[in-house]
Amino acid sequence: MRKILIVGAGQSGLQLALGLQSRGYELTLMSSRTADEIRGGRVMSTQCMFHTALGHERDLELNFWEERAPRAWGLGVSVAGPPAPGGHPRVIDWVGRLDGYAQSVDQRIKMAGWMETFEQRGGQVVIHGAAVSDLDVLARKYDLVLVAAGKGELVSLFGRDAARSPYDTPRRALAVAYVHGLGPRPEHPDVDAVRCNLVPGVGELFVMPALTNSGRADILFWETVPGGPADSFQGITDPSEHLERVLELMEHFTPWEYARATKVELTDAGATLSGRYAPTVRHPIGRLPGGGLVLGVADVVVANDPITGQGSNSAAKCAAAYLESILERGDRPFDEEWMRTTFDRYWESARHVTKWSNAMLAPPPEHIVNLLGAGSAFPAVAHRIANGFDDPSDFENFFYEPEKTAAYLDEVREETRAAEVEACDVAEATEVEACDVAEAIAAEVCAVAGADDEAEADDRVPEAVRSFR
Ligand SMILES: Cc1cc2nc3c(=O)[nH]c(=O)nc-3n(C[C@H](O)[C@H](O)[C@H](O)COP(=O)(O)OP(=O)(O)OC[C@H]3O[C@@H](n4cnc5c(N)ncnc54)[C@H](O)[C@@H]3O)c2cc1C
Repeated sequence: MRKILIVGAGQSGLQLALGLQSRGYELTLMSSRTADEIRGGRVMSTQCMFHTALGHERDLELNFWEERAPRAWGLGVSVAGPPAPGGHPRVIDWVGRLDGYAQSVDQRIKMAGWMETFEQRGGQVVIHGAAVSDLDVLARKYDLVLVAAGKGELVSLFGRDAARSPYDTPRRALAVAYVHGLGPRPEHPDVDAVRCNLVPGVGELFVMPALTNSGRADILFWETVPGGPADSFQGITDPSEHLERVLELMEHFTPWEYARATKVELTDAGATLSGRYAPTVRHPIGRLPGGGLVLGVADVVVANDPITGQGSNSAAKCAAAYLESILERGDRPFDEEWMRTTFDRYWESARHVTKWSNAMLAPPPEHIVNLLGAGSAFPAVAHRIANGFDDPSDFENFFYEPEKTAAYLDEVREETRAAEVEACDVAEATEVEACDVAEAIAAEVCAVAGADDEAEADDRVPEAVRSFR
């Protein structure tokens, strides 16, 4: 039986350990904390996962919390305009429907639960913060050592891949608060959605439903521009003060979100988190002092900024890709070439996440603001952007290059016009007042997207472009 050591009990390490265990491999999992310490500790992420990544958990029957966790069927984008009396107005605002729902299960619940399951199924858990010297010894006893230790110190084993890492300093400062008592967005009270609020020059506020230790909660997550007007969490250690700051920023920069947050309270003493890191891609193979090789997993090798909410999704995809590669390898050695091919298999999806996340960290060019603005007028655009969170490779087709964006928007306008004409024809045939029907369709289209009409939405885009400058 092949013996595998996995260091790190997070999304990727545990998913892979449980997957390999179910296929008869002999697994040792090394974790710096016990399940109880994880469960009772501080929040670690906002961990919103989309359909494809959730599918990998379902494939392994690890979706233990799917029935209890809230289902986010929508993904919304709002852009704040320049300050005005009464706070920043929204110049862009829409919600797109996800083809499959997204869910966020507090990693404290999930990792603790998965670790206990792994042990109950006969897996060996070693509670120890592994050092390079430990791995040097252990590598000789295992057929394969996988380092899935997130952004911890073991990343020093893996050199930074400068060609794939355009930033060498943090681009956002992160501040998270899990709360109870958040109201629904009044425009769409019946849709649970992940809300991306973009405040040019300041940062982003993400709001999403989640399942935590005390049941349904919502997460308020500020990503602030370092040195910018909202970068103010450093030195705050008191959770209540942290929440107060989160709310102050919401009141000032995103008053539409603040309006539903006036009664919130923290879910528990560990409900807040702050910090910052530079997004970094690393070379996937680490060489130990004694010559042994280890393979990096998920965040160890590709740590993107969470601005696009992709890290847990990528960790699930990485674990799924590595599982396939290990199974396909059979009894042959896990040598350097196999490690490289295995990482490349993961990079095929991770490269799209890295490109998109890094693009979102820069001020958006005009064509992207136009695209976001078009989401207000055209549900098809809102739908496509929203579902890009599940499959970021689609952004290659309409997001990065102005020409492709323009061609896509022309296509959508043409399809919308054709649909309106068809509706008029149907209406004429049935002797109904044609324009009434067309108008009704247009009104419905805009109501779903959250704008009054296309022309009005178009008018607001230049304002949004100016706000980003
Ligand atoms: C504020 C914030 C918000 C985020 N929001 C989202 C989101 O909405 N959606 C999304 O998809 N992603 C999100 N992410 C990213 C996501 O949380 C991570 O990308 C994901 O958890 C990475 O999984 P992983 O398995 O690589 O590492 P981790 O989940 O970090 O797990 C690594 C584990 O290894 C342990 N460890 C570390 N060093 C050692 C050692 N030496 N020995 C033993 N164990 C060790 C750690 O304690 C940890 O348990 C967010 C991240 C942050 C910081």
